[in-house]
Amino acid sequence: MIIVLLGPPGAGKGTQADRLSTKLGIPKIATGDVLRAAVRDGTKRGREAKAYMDRGDLVPDSVILGILQDVMTSPAAKKGAILDGAVRTVPQAEGLGTMLKEIGKKVDKVLLFDVDDEELVKRLSGRTVCEGCQTPYMGREPGSICEKCGHKLVRRKDDEPEAIRNRLEVYRRQTAPVVDWYRNHKMSVSRIDADAPVDTVTSRALKALGREKREEGRGKREVRK
Ligand SMILES: [Zn+2]
Repeated sequence: MIIVLLGPPGAGKGTQADRLSTKLGIPKIATGDVLRAAVRDGTKRGREAKAYMDRGDLVPDSVILGILQDVMTSPAAKKGAILDGAVRTVPQAEGLGTMLKEIGKKVDKVLLFDVDDEELVKRLSGRTVCEGCQTPYMGREPGSICEKCGHKLVRRKDDEPEAIRNRLEVYRRQTAPVVDWYRNHKMSVSRIDADAPVDTVTSRALKALGREKREEGRGKREVRK
């Protein structure tokens, strides 16, 4: 099963991708991570990407798709994958579709994690990021120490409120058409209200994937398989 995750910055896609990966037993493939790994390992595509980065240019979609293809054809992704950060624009959705077709796969499900802009501004402006391993933290002051690698946490420039509003505007402009594109191509898109505790959002996502049943009767309790 190949699942594409969409959602604005701060909606918790990365966290949900990790949790869904564990629940479903398929790997999370985060575009930023596999790009960094390919550059670090010096693969053919990685060297190509690095040439762009060294010039201060954006790595083109074609190179990113090549890196994703390498990962998607690896044994780890045999049963499927959860793609985080692979699709932000319509051309990327088209490119991903074409690439997957070449390797005999397709997108099975699109999950759109949605949160109000005001809540996102609140969340993101409370975020710090490890300057070593890039792990994001909520509600931790800049200067605290990363639990994973011991480096310092910093507040990124684009997590300042004005910059956040800008990023959200870019997101709305680019990604709203992606949802329409998937729907027009008869692909199932589920909108998940992600303004809720992490566990609740995971349950909602699993339900959208048909992996969690709602119990009949009073209270409509959610049950885990
Ligand atoms: Zn770290």
